[in-house]
Amino acid sequence: GSNCCFMAEAYLVETAEETSGRMCVNTEWGCFGDDGTLNDIFTPYDESVDEESSNPGEKRFEKLVGSLYLGEIVRHALIALTAEKALFTGTDISVLKEKGVFTMQHVLDIINNEDGTTEVKRVLEVLGLQPSERDCGRVQQICRAVMGRAATLHAVGLAAILSYMCQTRDMETLMVNVGVEGELYTGYGRFEEILQSVSRLLSPECMATFLPSRDGSGRGAAMVTAVALRLAAQRRVVNEVLAPLRLTHADLEKVQALMRQEMEKGLGKHTNATASVRMLPTYVTHTPDGTERGDFLALDLGGTNFRVLVVRVAEEGISMASEIYVIPASIMQGTGEGLFDHIIDCIVDFQTKQNLMTQTLPLGFTFSFPCQQVGLDKALLLTWTKGFTASGCVGQDVVQLLREAARRKQHSGLQVVALLNDTVGTMMSCGYDDPKCEIGLIVGTGTNACYMEEMRNVGTVEGDQGRMCINMEWGAFGDNGCLDHIFTHFDRVVDETTINPGKQRFEKLISGMYLGEIVRQILLVMTEKQLLFQGRPSAKLQTRNIFQTKFLSTIELSNGLALRQIRTILSELELEASFEDSVLLREVCQTVSLRAAQLCAAGLAAVVEKMRENRGLDQLSISVGVDGTLYKLHPCFSHNLQKTLKDLAPNCDVSFHLSEDGSGKGAALVAAVASRTASAEQ
Ligand code: ADP
Ligand code: MG
Repeated sequence: GSNCCFMAEAYLVETAEETSGRMCVNTEWGCFGDDGTLNDIFTPYDESVDEESSNPGEKRFEKLVGSLYLGEIVRHALIALTAEKALFTGTDISVLKEKGVFTMQHVLDIINNEDGTTEVKRVLEVLGLQPSERDCGRVQQICRAVMGRAATLHAVGLAAILSYMCQTRDMETLMVNVGVEGELYTGYGRFEEILQSVSRLLSPECMATFLPSRDGSGRGAAMVTAVALRLAAQRRVVNEVLAPLRLTHADLEKVQALMRQEMEKGLGKHTNATASVRMLPTYVTHTPDGTERGDFLALDLGGTNFRVLVVRVAEEGISMASEIYVIPASIMQGTGEGLFDHIIDCIVDFQTKQNLMTQTLPLGFTFSFPCQQVGLDKALLLTWTKGFTASGCVGQDVVQLLREAARRKQHSGLQVVALLNDTVGTMMSCGYDDPKCEIGLIVGTGTNACYMEEMRNVGTVEGDQGRMCINMEWGAFGDNGCLDHIFTHFDRVVDETTINPGKQRFEKLISGMYLGEIVRQILLVMTEKQLLFQGRPSAKLQTRNIFQTKFLSTIELSNGLALRQIRTILSELELEASFEDSVLLREVCQTVSLRAAQLCAAGLAAVVEKMRENRGLDQLSISVGVDGTLYKLHPCFSHNLQKTLKDLAPNCDVSFHLSEDGSGKGAALVAAVASRTASAEQ
């Protein structure tokens, strides 16, 4: 017979569940053509062979190329040519009528002895034929044609497979070894040469090297078993390493319940001090209704960049212009005065460029650090996060710090009307288009959320009427030890090496600043356990923060394996990765990003369930405004988040809207809503 198998990308093998790595596919190519696709290459001799076979209409390709059939094809050709008087004229050929008399060995004997016709004559005479010299030459030609065709068709099939492998592996060239076994390969001297040259012609991008297999069925079976055992042993160790990072539904329900508990504590007047989730009042009491108007300045501080914006809220919609300014690490970690002086310098630069120096526009300041807000424009910094440590700021009113810097810099045209968290800005900017948007969520450098809480539940602010947006500061969830049971060894190492150990523990499981570092810690342990990189970590891999969170996006992207991209990332880290290394790396990234999305969902589930109960509803329909590069660019994060949220809060119908520039637009809208509600109250 004839058949071929090859290593396919597992995700393309839709009939098997396995989606990562490769899987050997047995093509069963002998059946190729059974649906009629090869009809125009079948000769009358092939048709006769097929009709006389025990399985007519089946295994049509095999019947062109398999050693069981080659003698038969020749036999039918001889019969047909004799009938046309081109062979064996005047002699008895009745022996040829019997199926199977002309064997593969006969064909091989005839064509492997090309010099002269002595051997041909001998073979034919043994069969009981009386060939003339001319008959011998013609029989030899026929045998050569049949064998040549068989070798060529093998090459054609192989070329199709080689090209397919090259393409699906996203490679420009493919170098591959082909193990071959069988009578045709070993018996026919020119077989390999034809296989080589024809497949090169049809798939020039592929370089196949043919290796004779010895006892493939015996040794091969042993190999498959040995490989399976090695993989199973490795799998056990991988699972042990990753197990603590894999959370069950029950684990997540527990996190949700703990979040709910911390929220209640944070809202309570007397329990607030001991809550890890601070539940900070924002003095934002209304979401936009779409009637807000005016021109505003906005500042956005609290992430990777500092921005200054001018925002026009008009009937036709919101338009804005902005400029990004870098805050050098020396300023982030210098003095408070230095930081706010730098901010004023940036504002002046922006106003000059935008020709706004002569106007005094109301300013909204998006300041994304935990603040104890006392009023809309008065907020005491509780603690720095996300790499900021500027001195002399904690405990101070941030708006005041900005105003003092303006005074130092003799900038008199600044009218700060509101300070807000980026979560609030995100909620407000989505709220302008969707009145159901009453939650803001950030998953970027850090993570945080805000939502509209009933005033009667906010024990930390006087008054029971209406609602107020609460900045949860959920990044600190667990800082009081309530999440200790889910922290892994990797989380503890990552936490210990940050500038704020013991702080922002929930954030350190979820956000962009940390996921890459968690992955790196896992890779180090796996390398140590000989599961990766042949047990040898590069010096680079041992550098803190070298593995960026955006790598997770690249590595997890594409339903298969963007192998080349994974290799590029790893070679930048000076790591030589095997195919199996790449597959395992992807699994590690998936595990870490899945856990992040699930934990984020558990937090959000606590929020939406509380809102539903607050409002006495069986079913809550609500929207979340979301911002943050991790949420926006990671290929699976948002999907995993939404799916888990559905599981954990089945009575809430939650839709997600990406915020477009929440910090800028949101700051302007907070300022605008404040002036709208103020004038309404008057
Ligand atoms: P910020 O939260 O500081 O306002 P972003 O929302 O842009 O800023 O988030 C920045 C974070 O996003 C960085 O910590 C970085 O690790 C992460 N990040 C950047 N690019 C990607 C990406 N392609 N996929 C996932 N995360 C990314
Ligand atoms: Mg941001």
